[in-house]
Amino acid sequence: MYKRFILLIDYVLDIIALNNMPLKRRIILFFFGNLLWLIIMFSVSGSYLVISDRLFQNIETNENHDKVIQKVLRKLRGINLSSYEIVLSDSINNLNRQADKGIERIANISSFIKGLLEGGTIKDYTVDKATFIENVVVTPITDERKILLVQCMAKINALNGTFERLIDTKISFLKNGVYKQMDIEMVKDVDKDISDIIAILGDFTTVTANKNNTERGRIHNKFLVIAIIIITSSLLFAAILSAVYLTKLYRSIIKPIKIITSYFNNMSYGKSLISGEIEQLGEKGELGELFVQFQFFTEWFLNVNAFKKIIEDDYNVENIYYRLEQVFKNSLNIADLTMYEVNREKNYMSIIHRIPEDIKPYCNNIIQSNCIMCRAIKTGTIISSLEYDNICIQFEQPSDKYYYCVPLLMGGYAIALIQFVFEKEMKKENIEKINKTLNIAYNYILSSLPVIESKKLQKELRELSLKDTLTRLYNRRYLEEYTESIVSGVMRRETSLAVLICDLDLFKQVNDVYGHDCGDIVLREISNVLRNNIRKSDILIRYGGEEFLIILMDIEGNSQSLVIAEKIRASVEGTKINIGGSYIKKTLSIGVSELPGDSADFNEVIKFADIALYDAKKTGRNKVVKFSMIMNT
Ligand code: GH3
Ligand code: MG
Ligand code: MG
Repeated sequence: MYKRFILLIDYVLDIIALNNMPLKRRIILFFFGNLLWLIIMFSVSGSYLVISDRLFQNIETNENHDKVIQKVLRKLRGINLSSYEIVLSDSINNLNRQADKGIERIANISSFIKGLLEGGTIKDYTVDKATFIENVVVTPITDERKILLVQCMAKINALNGTFERLIDTKISFLKNGVYKQMDIEMVKDVDKDISDIIAILGDFTTVTANKNNTERGRIHNKFLVIAIIIITSSLLFAAILSAVYLTKLYRSIIKPIKIITSYFNNMSYGKSLISGEIEQLGEKGELGELFVQFQFFTEWFLNVNAFKKIIEDDYNVENIYYRLEQVFKNSLNIADLTMYEVNREKNYMSIIHRIPEDIKPYCNNIIQSNCIMCRAIKTGTIISSLEYDNICIQFEQPSDKYYYCVPLLMGGYAIALIQFVFEKEMKKENIEKINKTLNIAYNYILSSLPVIESKKLQKELRELSLKDTLTRLYNRRYLEEYTESIVSGVMRRETSLAVLICDLDLFKQVNDVYGHDCGDIVLREISNVLRNNIRKSDILIRYGGEEFLIILMDIEGNSQSLVIAEKIRASVEGTKINIGGSYIKKTLSIGVSELPGDSADFNEVIKFADIALYDAKKTGRNKVVKFSMIMNT
């Protein structure tokens, strides 16, 4: 249950982290995902800033209102001072100066309060020197504080009246020179008006402060807290998502690398390939694809190498051709191929393998009797209709088939030809597949070529060592090598064989009279006569200088061997041999013995034939003598 839950979570995370997509797409999506997230975060915090700016504007304007109140308070204090100066002044001039200042300050206050009521720019100058202090921009006050301001305005008007009365009273006092006690009483009135105004302003600032506090609280509760929650939680979510995504991405890179590494490791220890983990890797994604390609490459590389090892131990070239055919058919699934073997000397080639057997090869028959008509044989290069359509005119079904002809070259000459044929394909990936198959097939051919070459050379060397160079007949070594198989064949078939030992009569004379070269000509000519008088299955050997041994295989009846021997003798006798213009004739003596008639021991049969030959020489030459036991005594 728990495990299932973990698996389910993992599955969901895989989907979130786009784990089944190719790496490239995942990284691009990750980039755009991040970008999108940044845009969202930017918009959230941007709109937060805009809204908070709006909200704080209220507080800010309230603060400007407070500033104006401060200015009013300062001016009020100035009026207060002016009233005292007026009371204390003892000249009209001095009084007038102070009176002007006071009146101006009252006018200022009045305009400030008016500004608060109506909104706009409030200009602040010093009264003494009329220097500019600052401009304060305010919004009109429309809430409950408006009443306070209106009350304040009324008080300012009252103050204005009180202040003017003070001035008038002081002027008349100065003019009449009367007692000063009255002045102080007048100042009290001014003070009273001012403190009334201050009280109203006090109420005003209290209301403003309360307003600001409620506004701040509202912003804090409704906006700041929510914004902080939204931002932190979304950042947290983004961080978790990124962590999941990056972990999955990291794993999907590291895991395949680990599998590939262990694959290498296994390979270097010669262990077999790991298939379960390959499935885990999946064929999706770049690393999976890389691995599949790599595995494909190493596998065929190893297979080609193994193939080479196997054919090195094969018996002969025919076996190798057979194995090649099997690989093409079974491992590479090539359904249509023809293998030709080329006879270089006689300029023909013949089919040694054909798949499928029941369908005729596609090339014109002429290439078999005259192999130079085959373009691949003639040029010694691969002829491929995949590269160039209709490249070879001998291929008789070019419209619906591709052909790929590989000549097997040895010493610059073609010794064989393999033709692969495929149905014509329109799909690009199928053509690629064909090309891939052909490339592997070609590598098999390439790797087997040196082995074929060495097998061929081995065969030629062997032939050479078993043959006589003068007459091209087999020599004594051949006889020694094949005695056993020859005899066992005859025994198995329950037939007989006859050994004929033939010796040219008075051959020494030929050498003596005509020279050694003429002797050689005679020997070659006689060899041909002998060859022409026996069957293909019989064996003809140059046994000594002018001695030949013939094995007649599977003879029937008692006298058959004698009949053939006689035919040979007569044929030699009747042959005129041309030696540099003049003709000579030679005769032959033949001793005959049979196996198992005379003996079951082959060496004994040879000995008996030799005895019979001796008898023929002794009794006049140019004759056939059959061995009989009387001769042996
Ligand atoms: P016969 O057998 O009838 O008794 O007389 P013969 O002259 O044939 O007998 P012999 O064995 O004395 O002579 C065989 C001669 O064959 C000796 C040698 O000079 C000659 N001979 C052997 N091998 C060759 C060869 O390869 N080339 C040539 N030209 N002569 C050879
Ligand atoms: Mg002899
Ligand atoms: Mg002789």
